[in-house]
Amino acid sequence: MRINHPTIDNDVVRPTHVEVDLTRLTDNFNAIKEHVSPAKMMPVLKANAYGHGLVEIAKHMQKIGADYIGVAVLEEGILLRKSGITLPILVMGGILGNQVPHFLKYDLTMTASSIQSLNQINTAAGHLQIQAKVHLKIDTGMERIGVHDYNAESFLESAMKSPHVFMEGIFSHFASSDAADLTHARLQLSRFQKVLTCFDDIKKDLPPMIHMANSGAILQLPEATFNMVRPGILLYGVYPTGESKHTIRVHPALTWKSRVVYFKIIRPNRPVGYGSKWQTDHPVHAVTIPVGYGDGYFRSMSHKAQVLIRGKKYPVIGTISMDQIVANIEQDSAYSDDEVILIGELDGQRISCENLADWAGTIPYEILTNINTRVPRIYVK
Ligand SMILES: *Cc1c(COP(=O)(O)O)cnc(C)c1O
Repeated sequence: MRINHPTIDNDVVRPTHVEVDLTRLTDNFNAIKEHVSPAKMMPVLKANAYGHGLVEIAKHMQKIGADYIGVAVLEEGILLRKSGITLPILVMGGILGNQVPHFLKYDLTMTASSIQSLNQINTAAGHLQIQAKVHLKIDTGMERIGVHDYNAESFLESAMKSPHVFMEGIFSHFASSDAADLTHARLQLSRFQKVLTCFDDIKKDLPPMIHMANSGAILQLPEATFNMVRPGILLYGVYPTGESKHTIRVHPALTWKSRVVYFKIIRPNRPVGYGSKWQTDHPVHAVTIPVGYGDGYFRSMSHKAQVLIRGKKYPVIGTISMDQIVANIEQDSAYSDDEVILIGELDGQRISCENLADWAGTIPYEILTNINTRVPRIYVK
């Protein structure tokens, strides 16, 4: 068991913490790998590895045979290098010219999403007399970053003419590969395939790494596998949407726990929480739990959320505070120190991050990535 928190050691763990099951992560990784084999695996570890802890998850991925790591921003890549990660790392977001020397210093692979950024990379690498590792980003229908498929040819030619650019990869990203209706995803895929034929036309070899599939496409569009895939949420054991087909079995690696710190009886006419929005018409037993929106337990779940105590689900009452919530256990009993499951499974009962997403009016991705650094992460096998 290892605890990853700046101020907490093994003896004084905050009762509110996240447990990450590394064995489950391995199982999910292997299930995806088997499904896409022989394609390479680029686990996506952006946003603190979807809340699971960037550095620890990267170390684990390196140990279990990931081929590449994908992150969103430069700082994530630098942190991984400073933590001793030696796998190749692709920073998938857009980059600014003044960041290029940092990418080169830390041996991070850059996403080139315009001819201008290619030129900046080529110049900076030229000063150092090295070749920069670059993946070209093609925009096939997401309209965030990348050169449009219909302008790709001159982009590819510029890359080939840049002596200090090593075109290691080319990629694109799906907007709706996790939907029931795959019309747009198929259109994006065909646009990307057409871009790849440009290499034939100009009689050049394809770059060694070609990738497009996120979790939705891994599940639903095997023809988008190419020779590498970029699983994010699926790796953590969560399906991207309720609509997408579950062609691979995965299980959540994250459990979010806390403990009862207070028990009391609430009488009628004694409203609970900020704004006094909830009150009872008969005396009820209630417990207070030290978690709140200051940890990423969204305030928008107020009057909807449930927690699991002693194998039973109970409603959270009153408005969710920054650091505390109250649960109504009616006439049941509970004691200080009783375990409370916020996300997870116990005795056949389960509260999923999909449940929290529904209560908060968002998607599981936002629930996971918002469990913030005040919550210690514990790694179990
Ligand atoms: C976030 C991201 C992924 C992973 O997406 P999931 O839906 O979590 O699998 C893959 N590729 C890019 C470019 C991303 O930004």
